[in-house]
Amino acid sequence: MLTLDKFNFSGKKAAVRVDFNVPLDKAFTITDDTRLRACVPTISKILKEGGSAILMSHLGRPKDGPEEKYSLKHVVKWLEDAYKTKVYFADDCISESAKSLSAALKPGEILLLENLRFYKEEEKGDEEFAKKLASYGDVWVNDAFGTAHRAHASTAVMGKFFKERVCGFVMQAEIENANKIMNHAEHPFTAIMGGSKVSDKILIIEKLLDKVDNLIIGGGMTYTFVLAQGGKIGKSISEPDKTDLALSIIEKAKAKGINLYFPLDNLIADEFSNDANIKIAPKGEIPDGWQGLDIGPESIKVFEEVVAKSKTLLWNGPMGVFEFANFASGTNAIAKAVVEATEKGGYSLIGGGDSASAINNAGYGDRVSYVSTGGGALLEYMEGKILPGVAALE
Ligand code: AMP
Repeated sequence: MLTLDKFNFSGKKAAVRVDFNVPLDKAFTITDDTRLRACVPTISKILKEGGSAILMSHLGRPKDGPEEKYSLKHVVKWLEDAYKTKVYFADDCISESAKSLSAALKPGEILLLENLRFYKEEEKGDEEFAKKLASYGDVWVNDAFGTAHRAHASTAVMGKFFKERVCGFVMQAEIENANKIMNHAEHPFTAIMGGSKVSDKILIIEKLLDKVDNLIIGGGMTYTFVLAQGGKIGKSISEPDKTDLALSIIEKAKAKGINLYFPLDNLIADEFSNDANIKIAPKGEIPDGWQGLDIGPESIKVFEEVVAKSKTLLWNGPMGVFEFANFASGTNAIAKAVVEATEKGGYSLIGGGDSASAINNAGYGDRVSYVSTGGGALLEYMEGKILPGVAALE
């Protein structure tokens, strides 16, 4: 794979697939700029060497054509402030204006294309659409690890129209960190899996059973395991059709001698709200009408001890509904424990999506070893799947 450090962009127009899929609030303000910051080294190198950058990305999941809330124009100002250069914006990614703006682009300048997913052709991996996007640049840079598991026009298909295909710094770092944790982990290796559903994470959990010493399960997925073991979960989130799967994980972990940790207690609420009444309930003893929204204090203590003794940590998924301040304690405590273990010399990889927001919101983003920008892509890569966006660079 041709990596960015081995390529000089002088005089080149680089068509760069970035992942600018950032969250926006109702006023279209960026609420987490992690993904924009992640691409700075790649884009800066192109501009500094006298190249120009045609940036293309998706944002959100537009259903049928353009929608204001998914417009990439909301990131133009951020880019201008970060790169201190003119940022042109093409409000239609495959229009005449996109074509003429890219043709007129001078060294050191940026052109940002409107959300690629305003066209259905993007997700369909349409060749003609990919060819049009490819026509704007003379070298392809793929830095969008977050969508590398999709064979979309801009993430994979357009690569074939270029002689020179370059792996961006984000893409390279993501691959290196995922390889490090899956193939060269120091022991004890602890994986902390949370989030809402077992079904989303089953493949990676099974893969991890061959790698880890300790597996901590938290978040909403806990309750499917507790249900499977005959516990009472009240109206907590669960997947009753996945209880066999949950039992098989417990069995496999036992057979492989892995220490499997579930929350010993839960913060329970009488409604799904930050203002709900709150109680603490032991594992498997959540009364009817109540639901577990966070791990409890006993669980935090045990999980902290396991994390503190670990040399390698993989964390994917919050321990509770951390979006509600009253149910964020478990997630924040884990974030802190992971930081402390890292600062004692451990290696920590935070696996994208909600865990990345949680660690950033807690102000710990730069005190762990690596925060992945890819949620699903990271999980699929760690599961051992070939990602189309990576394959397109090879
Ligand atoms: P995931 O995308 O699967 O990593 O799940 C992240 C989401 O899981 C977050 O939005 C959390 O609010 C949610 N979550 C975590 N714990 C719980 C819980 N106990 N009940 C309901 N949702 C939860």
